[in-house]
Amino acid sequence: MRGTVNGIEITSRVIFLPGNSNGDGYWTNIDLTIQLKDVIPLFNELHPDCIGIFAFDQSSNHKDMADDALVASRMSSGVTEYKDTNKYRFRDTTFTDKEGRVKAQPMYRTETVNMEGVKKIVATRRAKQQPVSFEDLMNQYRLPRAREVFRGTLILLRERGLLDKNASLRKVCPSGTVHDPAVRPGCCAEYLLSQQPDFLAQKNILETVTFEAGHLFTLYPKYHCETNWIERQWGAAKRYSRMMCDYSFYTLTSRIHEFLDNDEVVHGPKINRRYYNLAYRYIDAYRKGKDVMEADEIIRKFSREYRSHRRAV
Ligand SMILES: [Zn+2]
Repeated sequence: MRGTVNGIEITSRVIFLPGNSNGDGYWTNIDLTIQLKDVIPLFNELHPDCIGIFAFDQSSNHKDMADDALVASRMSSGVTEYKDTNKYRFRDTTFTDKEGRVKAQPMYRTETVNMEGVKKIVATRRAKQQPVSFEDLMNQYRLPRAREVFRGTLILLRERGLLDKNASLRKVCPSGTVHDPAVRPGCCAEYLLSQQPDFLAQKNILETVTFEAGHLFTLYPKYHCETNWIERQWGAAKRYSRMMCDYSFYTLTSRIHEFLDNDEVVHGPKINRRYYNLAYRYIDAYRKGKDVMEADEIIRKFSREYRSHRRAV
């Protein structure tokens, strides 16, 4: 984003040279989030009192969830120790029980005894009808120091009344298969939990940053680059750099800046708006239920008419 605020030209542009050896590495979700946090104040300055729609391509990079988000696929089904080196630390949540009461659900608990070990021994001894001294076991399994554990998806499901006390459920369906709760009640722990309202409500990082700033977030449809005007802008930028190429890296980078600074001068007036209108016409055609071929024909017809209306008579 680029514009003039109080007579000063400002831009959120970042030139990034991908690659590990001589480049800047890879453009990650963190880079994009930092850039978005620069773009939003700029948008607010340039368009005060407006709500922006920030649209992104479909890419796993753009859909990354925060490290504390409620993402069932990142969770273990059993109790697991939490270590400082863990990438994720899930936020606590709430759920509504069958009576309509809102209940808190912590994700972690502190253990001073290895309860899983105690439970296993109790079950084995009971099966063998051996005496069980709970106090002995607690002393035997006392941990040298308290530890924090993630409580596991099975416990979370049981607390929500979605799984019977002694019932179990596989962690996740085998890879390559589709979750199908109609065939297998509950399907798997990951699917069942992921369909809970608080899990469904999780927003990705970019969405969260955009929403918190009072703006809107959307993703372009998959495999439809014709709906994203920036693709045409990049195409034109590449064409321009190629035309002006003298095979030096310095010229290449300066041409890119030159194009982005002066795209209207280089490629005629309001080129961005032309690209935007073209993309919008595709979106509009798809919204009316047209397929790709029909949409293409509508756009071609519109362009023909548009040109003929402008023609001098
Ligand atoms: Zn499943």
